[in-house]
Amino acid sequence: MKTNTATTPATDLSIVDDILTTIRESHSFCLSGHQNPDGDVIGSELAMASLIRRMNPKSKVDIMNAGPVPKSVSFLPGADNIRNVTRVEGKYDVVMVFECSGADRMGGIIDFSSQVVKVVNIDHHLHNPNFGHINFVEPTTSSTAELIFKIAERSGLPIQKNEAICMYTGVVTDTGWFRYGNTNVQTLEIAAKLLAAGVPVAELSERVYLSKSETALRLLAWVLSNMTLHFEKRVALLHIPERIFKELGAHPDDLEEVVNQGLQVETVVASAFLKEKGDVVKVSLRSKGDWDINRVARAFGGGGHKNASGCSIQNSLEGAKADILRELQTLFPG
Ligand code: 5GP
Repeated sequence: MKTNTATTPATDLSIVDDILTTIRESHSFCLSGHQNPDGDVIGSELAMASLIRRMNPKSKVDIMNAGPVPKSVSFLPGADNIRNVTRVEGKYDVVMVFECSGADRMGGIIDFSSQVVKVVNIDHHLHNPNFGHINFVEPTTSSTAELIFKIAERSGLPIQKNEAICMYTGVVTDTGWFRYGNTNVQTLEIAAKLLAAGVPVAELSERVYLSKSETALRLLAWVLSNMTLHFEKRVALLHIPERIFKELGAHPDDLEEVVNQGLQVETVVASAFLKEKGDVVKVSLRSKGDWDINRVARAFGGGGHKNASGCSIQNSLEGAKADILRELQTLFPG
């Protein structure tokens, strides 16, 4: 079995210091992440907002995303104040962008050239084009929340329990509770420090993972009964037609984690979950070990990580299934 003993490359502390100086010297901050934010976006935003308010108490700090807070992390301290917007109003000294492999991933809610003086890009995706004035981008780091931890630690302020809970949630949601290959020595060292700051681990895991709606389980049952396996059972193809989604009375939150279920089959190395919405099909992709699913997402203009990526395909559900299978086949030459 392959072990992951690697420590990540040393952080460029001059970038962290630039961010801390920006926090101290600016007056207004807009914090945002990728559209349809996940646990890492929300946890990172809330921890950073708290840190900014402590370092610079007179500043204005707003958190705005193109999409709602997922129910699974809506209990996080401060989550009630996060706004779901189609457009940010007014101007800010600083926009901090979390978890966005490109500026377009924010969903076009803010215009950098007219509404913001300084863009701070904090991310851990592959292929981030460094679109900010300050770019704190470490693709070897498990989660954006780990990067927020580095900023918080460097600030010299003791980490508060609420901040620790938010950062820990970001780390565990992006590492599948330390099960995925992005978990490394640094991740666990940071997690230990967050625990020391008071994270109630068991309570948190119950709130994040054991809080699904009944509909979510019925939807999962439908998806699994209709799963197909391809390429000598190495690929699991999962889908949900819009009609079934509506008949079940499902909510987008009910789709969380569904794609991972395909990987439970022992022969499967890649799982794709296709969600039909109008004339677009949103595709979530996951893989095991060295299988690079990011390549497949990028073929359709998407992105993400080696083992977890996504894209959108403008096609019917059946058409998108054929498209994605054709691209998945390239993983198995010969
Ligand atoms: P999910 O399948 O959970 O929506 O996303 C998995 C990973 O892929 C996340 O890191 C997410 O940011 C990225 N991702 C999902 N959809 C897209 C997309 O359409 N474009 C890009 N660039 N990344 C995506």
